[in-house]
Amino acid sequence: IEEDLRQAQKMEAIGQLTGGIAHDFNNLLTVISGNLEMIEDKLAPGTLREILKEAQSAAQDGAVLTGQLLAFGRRQPLNPKHADLGQLVSGFSDLLRRTLSEDIKLSTVIEGSGLDVLVDSSQLQNAILNIALNARDAMPKGGSLTTTISRVHLDADYAKMYPEVRSGNFVLIAMTDTGAGMTEDVRQHAIEPFFTTKEVGSGTGLGLSMVYGFVKQSGGHLQLYSEVGRGTTVRIYLPAINEKRPQESASDQDTGENQL
Ligand code: ADP
Repeated sequence: IEEDLRQAQKMEAIGQLTGGIAHDFNNLLTVISGNLEMIEDKLAPGTLREILKEAQSAAQDGAVLTGQLLAFGRRQPLNPKHADLGQLVSGFSDLLRRTLSEDIKLSTVIEGSGLDVLVDSSQLQNAILNIALNARDAMPKGGSLTTTISRVHLDADYAKMYPEVRSGNFVLIAMTDTGAGMTEDVRQHAIEPFFTTKEVGSGTGLGLSMVYGFVKQSGGHLQLYSEVGRGTTVRIYLPAINEKRPQESASDQDTGENQL
């Protein structure tokens, strides 16, 4: 428990630091990109154009990176709106289909009703995209990615096990891939900023820490379950806004072994 708290404080500090740097850096990148564009307009066709293209594409990559850092540093304020998560998440399926290759089978399962939450839909979309990209990377030979949306009640006993969790009604988005999975060691570090097992250039190690930041900021809860060779499930719990109490309880389906 103390380790969890230390971890959270560490992330908070890194978040503030990176957020500040990213903000200033982003302003510099805007100046660089703007000037490169002006040069492009004035430049006669020739080899310099190639060089210019490279500089522009590097500035673009830099902008993507600072975007991730800004989101991670939580400098992006949330703009929460009332939404039915079944409808909202189903609406992302076109985007996922365009982003993932054909040999990844996609499905969305909506269980029951009472799936209303207050959420920033564009940041939720970003979180889901990040999780889907990780699933893609874990399934280079194809597989399936299943997203299930349901309503659960986290009870007091469950909340006691995890200091960050408060009991109550939540809407759960569970995304399960049939990919390579993670070792317990990797799973424990996966949400840390800059932790990556991917090659330089193909992973920043910020995807899951962004997801974590967004979920925490939304009053929710994030869990990773994974088994090497079988796959990974990322669970996002967002507070349900409808106070109706369902019968089911999440505590009996969670073994506590693989919790984050
Ligand atoms: P990145 O994808 O840039 O490496 P993330 O924070 O998104 O950064 O993920 C951190 C690490 O967690 C990954 O490098 C990978 O080792 C592991 N990971 C995340 N999602 C999955 C998944 N679905 N399957 C297997 N490993 C994963």
